[in-house]
Amino acid sequence: MKYLVCASFGSLFLLLQSCNNQTARISDPDEVVVEVNPSHFLTNGGDFTIETVACTLSDGTKTKCYKITTRGLATDHAMGPWCPETISDGPDKSGKWIKDGELVDADGDFLKNLATIYDDPTWIMYDENGNIKRSETKEDCMKLAGATLLDEFTNHCIECLPSYISEMSKTYLLPVKPVRLVEPTTLGGGGPPPGGERPSGPPPSGPPPGGRGGGPASRGIAFNGVVFDAPAPLSLILSGYTIAPFDDAGGHINMDAGYHYHAATGATKEIEQPDGHAPMIGYAMDGFGLYARLNTAGEEPTDLDDCRGHYDDVRGYHYHVDAAGKNNFIGCFSGATVR
Ligand SMILES: [Zn+2]
Ligand SMILES: [Zn+2]
Repeated sequence: MKYLVCASFGSLFLLLQSCNNQTARISDPDEVVVEVNPSHFLTNGGDFTIETVACTLSDGTKTKCYKITTRGLATDHAMGPWCPETISDGPDKSGKWIKDGELVDADGDFLKNLATIYDDPTWIMYDENGNIKRSETKEDCMKLAGATLLDEFTNHCIECLPSYISEMSKTYLLPVKPVRLVEPTTLGGGGPPPGGERPSGPPPSGPPPGGRGGGPASRGIAFNGVVFDAPAPLSLILSGYTIAPFDDAGGHINMDAGYHYHAATGATKEIEQPDGHAPMIGYAMDGFGLYARLNTAGEEPTDLDDCRGHYDDVRGYHYHVDAAGKNNFIGCFSGATVR
């Protein structure tokens, strides 16, 4: 026997179209639902198309979706640098890394001091001339696809260049009109192995990154067509005595996902909000808007749910991404994603 609970939350009047499964929709006639606006995307860079197609969402809804096809390379900011060439290269010639929940400079000095930073003398990522040992070629990056650890890259800084993925094409589907569900969908992909992915330090806000749930691994898409991806597998990368820096935009390249972000640093197109709300930075894979973490006064909303979302009458339901350095964007999908 099933026990059905149809609850109303606060003053929000919920008409549950069905209460007998986990994918019941929230349908409130007074709630503002903002459709995806395809004109927000920077499709003028070429190889970036958006078409409308029929699709089925995770709750069974048959609807229309935007099919986004892109090379997935940023057109609104520089990509790289990632690995410094020598232990004397400063932050201007280097990328970033996550340490203790913060985005730090992965510059020559940082890579020189890894044995101290990680308290493990195995770390020596430079030769006798002070040159950083790095992945060098597309072939190197092909070997490392699928987050493969190889002895030959022990104590190497890993970087893959945009030229390696010039032939890559990525396709994403976003529901034109997001559908909010009673039960959020857990995130997919990129989850940490049991026992801890997270770097030491204080726990981040929000749920742990990368639960191995049923939703898509990509959390969302920036307006330049680059994905906000599942958490970087930090413990796996570190266990192979490698570092795979992000650039100042929070992105790096692998041969599986292409160029993708692990942090939102404000480098991509933002849409300012006239009321001082945080700027919009893209869409989550369920079609709800993705916004920066902080409003123009530097404050984070205090009423975010477990998915890092909340509602207002201007933007409808929407998310605020987590802080750069948390290896996380949102906590779950409140809306139905494409099957
Ligand atoms: Zn990555
Ligand atoms: Zn908000």
